[in-house]
Amino acid sequence: MLTQFELGDRVQMRKKHACGGNEWVITRTGADIRIKCVVCGRSVMLDRLVFMRAAKKRIHVAASSPEPEGGKAEADETNAGNSAEDA
Ligand SMILES: [Zn+2]
Repeated sequence: MLTQFELGDRVQMRKKHACGGNEWVITRTGADIRIKCVVCGRSVMLDRLVFMRAAKKRIHVAASSPEPEGGKAEADETNAGNSAEDA
């Protein structure tokens, strides 16, 4: 089960896609997760829990993902307007 993921991450799913691809990019996060197959470009919307169970691992973490390793104080102000996304 994958519990840590961010918008823009590449993830590998337990099952291969019908096209044979096994890499997906997270294109939307929230109550539902939208992932896009990097091979055929098809998008799939999954319930968050369904996605977490179906995902195997992160292949590539999005460069812009804010890591909680300190120095985050400045970022909080700029992210204040995004709280509605998480509802
Ligand atoms: Zn595909």
